[in-house]
Amino acid sequence: MARRFTRTTEDFDCLVCGASVRGDGYTNHCPHCLWSRHVDVQPGDREAGCGGLMRPVAVESRAHDTVLTHLCERCGHRRRNRTSPADDQAALLRVAAAAASAAVAGGIDNAAPGAAAGARERRRRR
Ligand SMILES: [Zn+2]
Ligand SMILES: [Zn+2]
Repeated sequence: MARRFTRTTEDFDCLVCGASVRGDGYTNHCPHCLWSRHVDVQPGDREAGCGGLMRPVAVESRAHDTVLTHLCERCGHRRRNRTSPADDQAALLRVAAAAASAAVAGGIDNAAPGAAAGARERRRRR
């Protein structure tokens, strides 16, 4: 359960679902639950200094890729990321459906992050 991949600084353990995620240099979110963390200003730079969990709030299909919007639970920062082929398609559909129903309800603040363990220590590997 504590199995970790530590070969590159892009690897991380998902704080929401517990998956060990191997980064590919482009993806900075969990392919299983799609949550991310607010650690980067530009992908991979680890300059944000926030460390908040970033909730997937919207999915947008474009011509050549799909863009996932994350919203930081701590500071409210929004960030758009391309999805990865490894991302869970069902999870992407759930985010899109939740975003659609939230838009109808008039807001995106509709789901409590049940498993989000914000108290867990922030890990930096560098
Ligand atoms: Zn996850
Ligand atoms: Zn933040």
